[in-house]
Amino acid sequence: MQFSREAYPAKVTTATRGYSVFVQTAAFWHTAPHRQHTRDIGIRPQFKSSRAARWHSAALGYTLLSYLLGWAGLLAGNAWLFLPAAVLLGHSLVIAAYMIHECAHNTVFKQNRHNAALGTALSWLCGACYGRYEDIRYKHFRHHVDNDDVVWFDYEAFFRSHPRVYAVTRGLEWCYVPAHDYLMHALMMFSAFIIPQRRDQRGRNITVLALRLTALAALLWWQPLAFAGYVLAYTLMIIVLRFMDGIQHDYPYHLRLFSDEVSEHKGDAEWEQLHTFSNVISWRYEWPNWLVLNFGYHNAHHAKPTTPWFELPTLHRTLFGHDPDTVVRLRPQLQMYHRYRGYRIFHDAPGLSPKEGRDFLQAAQRAELTGGNAASFLTAF
Ligand SMILES: [Zn+2]
Ligand SMILES: [Zn+2]
Repeated sequence: MQFSREAYPAKVTTATRGYSVFVQTAAFWHTAPHRQHTRDIGIRPQFKSSRAARWHSAALGYTLLSYLLGWAGLLAGNAWLFLPAAVLLGHSLVIAAYMIHECAHNTVFKQNRHNAALGTALSWLCGACYGRYEDIRYKHFRHHVDNDDVVWFDYEAFFRSHPRVYAVTRGLEWCYVPAHDYLMHALMMFSAFIIPQRRDQRGRNITVLALRLTALAALLWWQPLAFAGYVLAYTLMIIVLRFMDGIQHDYPYHLRLFSDEVSEHKGDAEWEQLHTFSNVISWRYEWPNWLVLNFGYHNAHHAKPTTPWFELPTLHRTLFGHDPDTVVRLRPQLQMYHRYRGYRIFHDAPGLSPKEGRDFLQAAQRAELTGGNAASFLTAF
């Protein structure tokens, strides 16, 4: 399987100074258990380029700072700080999640193992550490290489065979509670006990559960308001991630994560672009897209997956031009998210017919699509 396509940007210039203690610690913990890697511990992670050093450091610095400030605000026990602190903490989780995506594509450091170390550390931050980082990376690469939504969990079949769970989930979704994704994240927490192919991770799964649930239980006991703030922050992360994921492809999912079945469109770059869509926060200004690390520029990302987040807007305009009709603007995205919130599980909104390719893009621009809920790269099954 060809994982990395071309090196972009091709020029890897300078090593960097000023990377954080966080990254070094992450690299240490990632490599320390493996004896064959012990000689690498002393090698400092080097960013891919001086631009990468600047922009990735800014994103990582922001993630850490907002994470710490968010928790400090929640733990202060001040009711006035509750909402801003929860939003700040939630946004730190969003950026952490998108930095995992950057690590998965090895856009941050020169050495893949340093990207893996950082991705692993960040997965602890955003609660995606119950399984292995490698599983997240593998499933996401299948998404890119197979041009498919390659999964193990058949949530449609699950909801069909559990109608009461479906009714409750749909009701909560109607109230803007991301219940479908709560279910996905709950599965993630117990994935080694649910997915037969991940049985070998049971020890790890139990350890992570014990650590995180103990910490959360302690928080609930001593600072129930801070606990509520964390739940809110985590919910915000889930909502932002799925809002961005929801209309980026018209692929149906296929249960091929653990099978050798080859996807019909594997390697077909033209088909891939026709069935991939870019949903931006702002077309006119760049900075609002930084709130999601430019994740909306999904056509550009699929065209050159090794392009770091800070170069995606330029790449989009280089490849697809300056026409705003190449993207879905924020307004129709919000309209769809609101209007079809009860229909995103089975895509069964009355009056809407299934769309593909160019028709899908135009329907999205008219806010006439349901979108999906459960395509997050964090839930790797
Ligand atoms: Zn994609
Ligand atoms: Zn990707």
